Amino acid sequence: MTLSALHPAIGQGKKPGAPGFSGGTLTCHCSHDPVVVKVDAQVAHNHACGCSKCWKPAHALFSIVGVVSRDKVHVTSRPEKLQVVDPSATIQRHACKACGVHMFGRIENKDHGFYGLDFIHTELSSDTGWAGPEFAAFVSSIIETGTPPEQMAGIRQELREAGLEPYDCLSPTLMDVLATQVAKLRKAA
Ligand SMILES: [Zn+2]
Ligand SMILES: [Zn+2]
Repeated sequence: MTLSALHPAIGQGKKPGAPGFSGGTLTCHCSHDPVVVKVDAQVAHNHACGCSKCWKPAHALFSIVGVVSRDKVHVTSRPEKLQVVDPSATIQRHACKACGVHMFGRIENKDHGFYGLDFIHTELSSDTGWAGPEFAAFVSSIIETGTPPEQMAGIRQELREAGLEPYDCLSPTLMDVLATQVAKLRKAA
């Protein structure tokens, strides 16, 4: 297993965002008439994700995905090429119909702890200054898509060496956000 098999961006060292960086442009992989999404904010909670639903480059075991406020995300070119991958999913992933790249994921359930945040892949941007991944989420899920369980110890070790603490759900910070919302809804019920 090499670091580039995890994801090409893993192993380049932990990369904090450039000071003052305030966003950039995401472009899908179509060589003609690509979908373009303008993001007017730095990404937060950027992380490697091992779930089977996030978009990732070919042969990568993990996606790299982070969040921005949904009002900072604007489709500026070819919106008609976008379609929601799975309308029943919590995160509505808007993908290019032609190349399959996910341009942004949006939560429409107002009771969800992450409502108001869109999920984006900063590797679709050629702008420099994005904050790099900070941790690895849903690591055990890569077994579901074919990784032999006996490789997991080595993969967790590689993630740690790359500065990405591996978790089998989200990071404690994000799990706390979700649980706080559940507590709020219980109180309101
Ligand atoms: Zn495309
Ligand atoms: Zn994921």
